[in-house]
Amino acid sequence: MKGARKLSEVKTGQSVYIENVNGRDAFRQRIGEMGFIKGRRITVVKNAPLNDPVEFSIMGYNISLRRREAAQIFVTDQQLFSGLADQVITESVPAPKGTPENNGRTIRVALVGNPNSGKTTIFNFASRSHEHVGNYTGVTIGSKTASFRLGDIHFEITDLPGTYSLSAYSPEELFVRDFILEQKPDVVVNIVDAANLERNLFLTTQLIDMNVKVVVALNMFDELVNHHDRFDYAGLGKMLGIPLVPTIGARGRGISKLFRKVADMHTGKDPFHRSIRINYGHEVEHSLAKIAEKAKPVFREESAGETSARFIMLGLLGRDRHAETQIIHAREHKDIIRTAREEADRIEHLMDDNIQSVICDARYGFIAGALKETYRPGSEDRRKISDSIDHLLTNRYFGYPVFLFFMWLMFSATFNLGAYPQNWVDQGVLMLGRFLEDSMAEGSLKHLLIEGIIGGVGGVVIYLPNILILFFFISLMEDTGYMARAAFITDRIMHKIGLHGKSFIPMIMGFGCNVPAIMATRTIENRNNRLLTMIINPFMSCSARLPVYILLIGAVFPDFKGSMLFILYLTGILVAIIVALVFKNTIFRSTDAPFVMELPPYRLPTVKSTLKHMWFKASQYLKKMGGIIMVASILIWSLGHFPVQRQAVNSKPLQASSAMETSYIGRIGKIIEPVIAPLGFDWRMGVCLLTGVAAKEIVVSTMGVIYQAGEGDDPSARIENKLQTAIHTGDKLRGQPVYTPLATLSFLLFTLLYFPCIATIVAIYNESGSWKWAVFSVFFSTGLAWVLSFIVYQTGMLFT
Ligand code: GDP
Ligand code: MG
Repeated sequence: MKGARKLSEVKTGQSVYIENVNGRDAFRQRIGEMGFIKGRRITVVKNAPLNDPVEFSIMGYNISLRRREAAQIFVTDQQLFSGLADQVITESVPAPKGTPENNGRTIRVALVGNPNSGKTTIFNFASRSHEHVGNYTGVTIGSKTASFRLGDIHFEITDLPGTYSLSAYSPEELFVRDFILEQKPDVVVNIVDAANLERNLFLTTQLIDMNVKVVVALNMFDELVNHHDRFDYAGLGKMLGIPLVPTIGARGRGISKLFRKVADMHTGKDPFHRSIRINYGHEVEHSLAKIAEKAKPVFREESAGETSARFIMLGLLGRDRHAETQIIHAREHKDIIRTAREEADRIEHLMDDNIQSVICDARYGFIAGALKETYRPGSEDRRKISDSIDHLLTNRYFGYPVFLFFMWLMFSATFNLGAYPQNWVDQGVLMLGRFLEDSMAEGSLKHLLIEGIIGGVGGVVIYLPNILILFFFISLMEDTGYMARAAFITDRIMHKIGLHGKSFIPMIMGFGCNVPAIMATRTIENRNNRLLTMIINPFMSCSARLPVYILLIGAVFPDFKGSMLFILYLTGILVAIIVALVFKNTIFRSTDAPFVMELPPYRLPTVKSTLKHMWFKASQYLKKMGGIIMVASILIWSLGHFPVQRQAVNSKPLQASSAMETSYIGRIGKIIEPVIAPLGFDWRMGVCLLTGVAAKEIVVSTMGVIYQAGEGDDPSARIENKLQTAIHTGDKLRGQPVYTPLATLSFLLFTLLYFPCIATIVAIYNESGSWKWAVFSVFFSTGLAWVLSFIVYQTGMLFT
């Protein structure tokens, strides 16, 4: 190869042309789908602060690769014959059948598109009058469904994870692909970033192959207009046989038009609609025909217009395992697969290129041809502003300080700024307690309300402001695009512990809530890395643990609030790192996954979308209050209240506390006391930890309930004071304070590390696909918590 060299050797700022890509199949395929094909121009934008990974610009978007991966890509300074088609060859095929009328029926719509194309924004806008919304927002993982009406048509829309392609390279892609093939939505809405047409249309070509009903939303149309691009989208729509509707998701423009088109599409009334077949060139078409001949019996049963036969056959030709499983039920499958493999070998030999690249090239060729006739880019440099912001935020010298500053800002705002509204809510809860105290008649109901419900739920609800602020920052980082930069600059460090910059995002999200964070590990392609990221995620201290820290630190370490909190979070991070290092070299040994990550342009999120994001989290939190925490509080109160002992009902404080001791909860606490005594805990702390298994906030609500009943000198006194005056009732330490600094530290450490809540365990089960890792996580984290707390407490005791 004349003048060919490795992409990793190209200097910053230089532009070169891609010659070919080496490396493993998965890497080649992924990188091909992202537009790394022969003849494409690529520019080195910059190195991350520690020189690795490297940011490149290709097809008008930015992507980061590790140096080692860039070394697999050969480039040249000369512009080659691009191999891109300049002519669109399509042919019409029978279209999927239309449904005559929409009346009374629900149209099921799936939203698919690249990450960051605006799917969630459009989903949220369309379903603002939603009847029900399930699952999570944030980085979209899993799916989320909502229904709404437009006129007299009823829609049910599903927001799917963002993908660049529908090959089965990552679990997300597989998820979207299976959703379309198995759930068979009536219409697929393909959300396309209009400011980045070429790459976004790649997915569209796959939808065309699937022969499903598609409507394209040309989202971010405002950006296209700002760049002065000229785009004959109606012309492109005619060519593709797909209606294209410009939308501005962030401002809700074009969305009702989009769904009217969807309805037209569903009834087959849309004038644009025509099913086309993309021509993949003589050789590939020849092979497809051969495979089709063999596969006739398999696809025959399904009526011609409704199958995704062509998509599956292309998969077979590309040696795609999942396409192969799709026909495994057929008697002829062995024969078909053999034919496909032979054809793949034939083409590779003939073209001297890997089969996936051949198919990828053909898709991009089709797109280039279609855009050539309809699209003229404006002169505006679209990345200019974004790149200059990046220049500072991922700068060699300022990158890390800026990052640490943002982290610091996030945590201090969470606690310092959160303290004000927290106080108001606290006052409200106290007032409500006093009001009930004065106005209600004496009896069990009153005790249940004040001690059980207000003590329990109220004790947790006051942390809502802190949690809101934390989620505000996390959604801000996600929406602006800074989260991807955080992954970019931390990849080198994460790499040191055997992980990936992409593991960094779930880790940061873990500070909010481990459940969506564990779901976010889906973006990690390598299974072992994904499992490891899940197992260490619970050590990232989630916001549910925050109430425990704030309460105990406030009560026991009032002079070191900030530092104590920082130490706790840091301990969690350190434990995660050490565990990762150990496991990476033992049970999760694996080769490295490539680091291919898009760096989206910075976007100013709208106030509305950020508030919506926050409100969604807040309402989830409140629902948790009303549900599990309420139930747990009542349960714990009852366990502590029964069996009622006559003399204890109207007795003095100490006796009330001993009544608690003989109640059911006291007995449970007593049973586990021997296990936790070496950590410095008394039976009440044990009870709190037990109930915290349901959700960690419950540790605090349980404290509220237990101490409310226990040291009852003034029922409305703050719980901090009650903790400060709590004394041991057991034999050994009788009369001594329970919450000594050492015991409290041990307790905080235990709370940080032990059993992740039930929801997290369920998430690990769902994401790993087996109970094995969920159960492992339970025993591993609890065991580790016990050992570390034991060491801290016993070592401390030697010195006191
Ligand atoms: P998803 O990953 O596909 O779900 O994308 P999101 O809905 O999270 O949107 C990504 C970013 O694009 C967010 O910051 C949105 O506020 C922003 N955004 C969405 N639609 C538009 C649009 O039409 N124009 C502009 N300028 N920004 C948009
Ligand atoms: Mg999303």
